[in-house]
Amino acid sequence: MEQVIIVGAGPCGMSAAAELQKRGIDPLIIEKGCVVNSIYGYPTFMNFFSTPELLEIADIPFIISHEKPTRQEALAYYREVAERRKLRIRTYEKVEEIKRRTDGTFAVRTTKRNGVRAEYGTRFVVIATGYYDNPNYMNIPGEDLPKVSHYFKEAHPYHGMKVAVIGGKNSSVDAAMDLYRAGADVTWIYRGGEYSPSIKAWVRPVFESMVNKGWIKAMFNTEVKSIHEDHIVVVRNGEEIKLENEVVFAMTGYRPDRTFFNALGVKVHEETGEPEHNPETMETNVPGVFIAGVIAAGNDANVIFIENGRFHGGILAQEISRRMAG
Ligand code: FAD
Ligand code: NAP
Repeated sequence: MEQVIIVGAGPCGMSAAAELQKRGIDPLIIEKGCVVNSIYGYPTFMNFFSTPELLEIADIPFIISHEKPTRQEALAYYREVAERRKLRIRTYEKVEEIKRRTDGTFAVRTTKRNGVRAEYGTRFVVIATGYYDNPNYMNIPGEDLPKVSHYFKEAHPYHGMKVAVIGGKNSSVDAAMDLYRAGADVTWIYRGGEYSPSIKAWVRPVFESMVNKGWIKAMFNTEVKSIHEDHIVVVRNGEEIKLENEVVFAMTGYRPDRTFFNALGVKVHEETGEPEHNPETMETNVPGVFIAGVIAAGNDANVIFIENGRFHGGILAQEISRRMAG
């Protein structure tokens, strides 16, 4: 029987583990992929927006010789945290189901990489599953074609191709610029009427200049209606336009998956989409079920980052240690 099981070895799940360790509790983390699996999936050559000290967890310094860490540096940093703190992480094991037992403890059912199923018992459970596995779908015909992706890794394979990038914030802008630099013919399609204020201040002038020079074709007030093998159909100001196209990156953002909440009886706020929880303990309305990181956000998932989600661990660890002492 475990004392605490944490679902997800992202920065916020790992931070929670380190904070629990500090208080004499050695939790088990179960992770369906590798350590910091979401960051592993980010664009290969990206730089974080945050400076490294804002991404630190477990009291371990993140030192680099320049301003913003690369994805590679962040991967190395979080691996180092796992090693130094000797975090107990079961990687490549997916949590399929969490059930509350009649005695108030939990059964956590998993599937390992080799397909073998396992079950663990635990007194407390911390859900730290992030949002990156769950893109915002546009729900339009053709979205499931192999040419469409909600994730962008790198631009090189698209040299010389006609690429559409959908979405108006940072992922779309970064992808469009990378693709242009790699020699793709890029059309950036945004449903909004002007540049989003969410685009980072140091990124926007570069992007705007590429648009003004005609290097990237930007379409505002434009919705994608359908995607086909060799074209897409968009609607701008009521006018339907057919664009030749070979590849689509739908950078429409991500939102937390609420499957575990629904099964456990964690209430989700109808309007905001936020899971009901006490921000002073990070415990949900279901006793013994805690949340950490981006999963605590509602429909607007962009209010919790590593910068602030990393502090959920300290809050919940304090409450869990208090309860264990009691
Ligand atoms: P995640 O990092 O998503 O970790 C969740 C983990 O849970 C994953 O490893 C996943 O595999 C695992 N998991 C999910 N379901 C299961 C399951 N059923 N069983 C087992 N494991 C499971 N934030 C910043 O503060 N600064 C930045 O500069 C910044 N840059 C970003 C750049 C990009 C491109 C993106 C997309 C986001 C960026 N963010 C940044 C946001 C930040 O990365 C997220 O807020 C952060 O990852 C949240 O951490 P987390 O631990 O809550 O979730
Ligand atoms: P995002 O910020 O959620 O933006 C999603 C965009 O897609 C928005 O412009 C949104 O339109 C649009 N959109 C959403 N649903 C749509 C739909 N159904 N049809 C058409 N358009 C739709 O997502 P993101 O850009 O992927 O960013 C996610 C997170 O990663 C953010 O926290 C961001 O800061 C971070 N990020 C960091 C870096 C970095 O550190 N280098 C790089 C990229 C992203 P509206 O504008 O109308 O809402």
